[in-house]
Amino acid sequence: MIVVLKKGTEQKDIDKLTDMLERQGVTVNPVVGSDIIILGLVGDTSKIDPTQIEADRNVERIMHVAEPFKKANRAFHPEDTVVDVLGHPVGGQKLTVIAGPCSVESKEQIISVAQSVKASGAHLLRGGAFKPRTSPYAFQGMKYQGLELLMEAKAATGLPIVSEIMSPGDIEIFEREVDVIQVGARNMQNFDLLKQLGKIKKPILLKRGLSATIEEWLMSAEYIMAGGNENVILCERGIRTFETYTRNTIDLGAVPAVKKLSHLPILVDPSHATGKWWMVEPLAKAAIAVGADGLMIEVHNDPEHALCDGQQSIKPQVFDSVMRDIRLIAAAVGRSM
Ligand code: PEP
Ligand code: MN
Repeated sequence: MIVVLKKGTEQKDIDKLTDMLERQGVTVNPVVGSDIIILGLVGDTSKIDPTQIEADRNVERIMHVAEPFKKANRAFHPEDTVVDVLGHPVGGQKLTVIAGPCSVESKEQIISVAQSVKASGAHLLRGGAFKPRTSPYAFQGMKYQGLELLMEAKAATGLPIVSEIMSPGDIEIFEREVDVIQVGARNMQNFDLLKQLGKIKKPILLKRGLSATIEEWLMSAEYIMAGGNENVILCERGIRTFETYTRNTIDLGAVPAVKKLSHLPILVDPSHATGKWWMVEPLAKAAIAVGADGLMIEVHNDPEHALCDGQQSIKPQVFDSVMRDIRLIAAAVGRSM
């Protein structure tokens, strides 16, 4: 339920109404803007009598929110959320490009890729240290040593770092060493992990599950936000369909849908969505054209010998040309980089 208050309602009156509502067992999320004052009610609103709220002279109207996600709902927060990553805004007018290898493989590899993507204009560096591989015999990542190397690449380039977490037991170390904690597609509904990530303040990049609906995805964001961490960035990375030519089917329709339903920033990962390096460029451009807040792209200096996802990784020179193309599209849709 959402209570819209009249413009100019005084703080003491907002507090009084908030107290009255919270005494009835709900949590009140106030959004006080210059044009709008909203109280978003989270919890069991079934016992609340709407006529009692409407009797308050400061109340403009009451709206019922049909969707099960509340804190992630645009109705609760009409303005776009901008997540701050060490001073870099994710969401809002500026686009964000996260680039780097699927996995951290060596010091030389991660520093070389970091330097080249930085020179091309990437804002954040990605690199997997803990890899959720389908096969237990495949490379599982450099783990804690991988995080150390990412920190070295950050020190060398100044790029904030993004890396995937797999276990709630690693939250403390990720909170200390990483700037954005990625929750991968396979863990999108690891509710225990989501709840624990809700207790910290670090930005979370929440990738869409392999077969998750938009609503399931936003409910996962809600898990993190319900715990108190509102710094959630969504990432569309393709979904399972009957099509097998591409690794996944990129759901660009999810971008405007999420923009309508939620205030959270949404990025698109054309690398995992297609599984083919030559499809990254056209779909990166399409993602920006359709309104994404940015991209996550796998870049490798030697894709032929990559330990993971070489087939979908672009080389630094290709990334450079993708960045030039994206700048043109960004300008055409009123965004900057
Ligand atoms: C990744 O970004 O490295 C990754 C494993 O992606 P996803 O979780 O989307 O499969
Ligand atoms: Mn990958």
